[in-house]
Amino acid sequence: MRSLVIHRPFQASVEEVATPRMEAGWALLRPILTGICGSDLHAYSGHQPFVRYPVIPGHETVATVVEIGEPDIAGSLPPNRWSPGGLRPGLRVTLDPAVPCGRCYSCRMGRYNACAKQQVIGVHKPGAMADFVLARTDCLCIVPDHVPDSVAALTEPLSIGRQACERGRIGAGDWVGILGAGMVGLSVLLQARARGARCAVVEPVEWRRILARDLGAEITVTPEAVADGLGDWGEDGHPTVVVEAAGRPETLALALNLVSSCGRVVVLGFWPDEIRVPGPVVVGKEVNVVGSRLHCGTIQKTVAQLAAGALDLGPLEPAIVPLVEGPEAFEALSRGELEVSKVLLRA
Ligand SMILES: [Zn+2]
Ligand SMILES: [Zn+2]
Repeated sequence: MRSLVIHRPFQASVEEVATPRMEAGWALLRPILTGICGSDLHAYSGHQPFVRYPVIPGHETVATVVEIGEPDIAGSLPPNRWSPGGLRPGLRVTLDPAVPCGRCYSCRMGRYNACAKQQVIGVHKPGAMADFVLARTDCLCIVPDHVPDSVAALTEPLSIGRQACERGRIGAGDWVGILGAGMVGLSVLLQARARGARCAVVEPVEWRRILARDLGAEITVTPEAVADGLGDWGEDGHPTVVVEAAGRPETLALALNLVSSCGRVVVLGFWPDEIRVPGPVVVGKEVNVVGSRLHCGTIQKTVAQLAAGALDLGPLEPAIVPLVEGPEAFEALSRGELEVSKVLLRA
């Protein structure tokens, strides 16, 4: 089968590799559209700490079920995982890319997304930028027929935003400051708006600020403009929740400075370096700082939102590129040359 392989930083090609062999508890899928994620770009540029080369990336996919393996009687399903009923070849599915151990403390308490032993499809396991991919049946979610491929392919990034909203207990009455308007920040924006929260977006790049405004951000500003807070927006200029979606060490300090007293800070970005945290701010404001990782049962909830039209994707149009042109798309995205929030590869 054809597959996009990253051999080492800035070295990707589409080549023939062996089709994956079926295992009990897994299903063979034929990807239709697969998104290039920020973490895939980090793997491409050598900044993804969990990746081992060579890697076949791709964890944001809508795919067709080709074959379903024998049931995995030994495998235990952690709470919040699910096994879709009625799974059969020919159905369209999307997936939760995490394969948790099912036995550790986080798995047992239903937070399998923080399992330290988890394997992630497209990071530790071969991903979906290929003609075929294997995925656990208990991570699949059937996509209703009326949801277009290009929308279903956004399930995973939109679920990242939903998980962040759940971790930050974002609801109506909250003022949410979102740092970064890449796909992750926009996903938080859409999900927070769907919960009735008011949103401000802090983003240095102009076309991303314009897109955030079009997607419902009440104000959009550059990082330099928020040193003294957000003027008369928020609680005396301060958001009740700040979501760090830029993945830069300095933005966490900005988040802690910007958030209101008794506010919450949700950290989505990860980076290899240590973070300097202003202790007096954390204690003085009595801030709750929480991490948000992947998805904890939020994939199927996001599919339900998309099926019900509960997320207004507006001008969030992904660009669709053939798989064979994937390496060029990686290169252009890593240089920041494409003014598009999401590139989907068509296998
Ligand atoms: Zn992703
Ligand atoms: Zn575990």
